[in-house]
Amino acid sequence: MPKAVIVGGGIGGLATAIAFTRQGWDVEVLERSTRIAEVGAGISLWPNALRALNALGLGDEIRKQAREERSAGIRDSKGRWLARADADAIRERYGSPVMMHRADLLDILRSEVPESAVHTGISATEARTDGAVVHSAGTSTGDVIVGADGIRSVVRRAVCGPIEPRYSGYTAWRVVVTPSEPINDMGESWGSGERFGYGVLPDRRVYCFATADMAAGTQGGGLSEMRARFGSWHAPIPALLAAADESAVLKHDLYDLPPLKTYVADRIALVGDAAHAMTPNLGQGACQALEDAVVLARVAAEDGDLARFDAQRRPRTQMIVKRSRMIGAVGQLSSPLAVLARNTLLRLTPPSAQFKSLAPVLDWEG
Ligand SMILES: Cc1cc2nc3c(=O)[nH]c(=O)nc-3n(C[C@H](O)[C@H](O)[C@H](O)COP(=O)(O)OP(=O)(O)OC[C@H]3O[C@@H](n4cnc5c(N)ncnc54)[C@H](O)[C@@H]3O)c2cc1C
Repeated sequence: MPKAVIVGGGIGGLATAIAFTRQGWDVEVLERSTRIAEVGAGISLWPNALRALNALGLGDEIRKQAREERSAGIRDSKGRWLARADADAIRERYGSPVMMHRADLLDILRSEVPESAVHTGISATEARTDGAVVHSAGTSTGDVIVGADGIRSVVRRAVCGPIEPRYSGYTAWRVVVTPSEPINDMGESWGSGERFGYGVLPDRRVYCFATADMAAGTQGGGLSEMRARFGSWHAPIPALLAAADESAVLKHDLYDLPPLKTYVADRIALVGDAAHAMTPNLGQGACQALEDAVVLARVAAEDGDLARFDAQRRPRTQMIVKRSRMIGAVGQLSSPLAVLARNTLLRLTPPSAQFKSLAPVLDWEG
């Protein structure tokens, strides 16, 4: 039986393990952490990702544990509409996006990978194009080596040498809260160099996310800073922040990757953030990792020519990295004149234009 050695047991690595298993391959997943776990936050899965999950046979289970997302659009910090989204048109044309807790997504993926195939507490130190991975417990060999080891991938070095992630210029907070009053809508609001968004999870908890311009590596700045920055924004943001617990707040500087020349070298292929880490402005990082998983396993099983994976995946994912970066730059504008111009332009843009611009991202069929 052919075998894939997968470095990394995040969303990308586990989805890839499932995809190879479905093609009748043996898999070995090597994960550095001592347990497979995700951060305490929500995640949006767009229709393209749901199609990838359907291809893995998991679409129904995911929908059961997720909540349909109905984006209303973008507001300013006072709650005035900048851009209205036509959620019905989006649903009809592309299908509905969903929101779920990351831990639930990971649990579903984990439960589909044979127990004996997942090895935790193992750190890869080197991947070789002849199909070997050197790691903290020895060496593993496979017909295909998959680098699913995230933005600071070790496997990537064997494909394209050292590559430095790029700092976006802004940091992100995430926190899941239990609001005192139920919330039904979701939304995102843009200020000057700051944004705040929220979406409802299936159990009615609310996943909040926020960004602010900040030098990389700035220490501190947990819930108190979120409250200082966003506590006077429109409802329900102050109430959400009042309900938040300091210990649940996650803060991460946001990076993406410059475009790689290739995602493959001989027997090695890169998936997910190892290949195309992107800023989360389109909510597509994990969605693209799920697409990668489906395409890579199919190409490997068909004829093993990994160059076809590169040709199918690189242009698409690099287009999405670029778009995400651009949306972030516009969303984070901070000079009063630029913010005024942006907000005026957004108010003048019809929902149909926004709706059409999503097509190249959401139209993926596999
Ligand atoms: C604030 C924020 C919000 C986001 N929101 C969304 C969203 O709504 N929708 C969406 O689709 N995406 C979103 N994303 C992006 C998404 O989280 C990532 O794209 C996705 O998690 C990448 O998965 P991955 O498996 O490729 O990498 P990772 O999740 O980074 O997993 C890599 C795994 O490899 C392991 N590893 C690393 N090095 C080694 C090694 N040497 N040996 C063994 N194991 C190793 C790590 O421990 C880890 O488990 C968001 C990202 C951020 C930062």
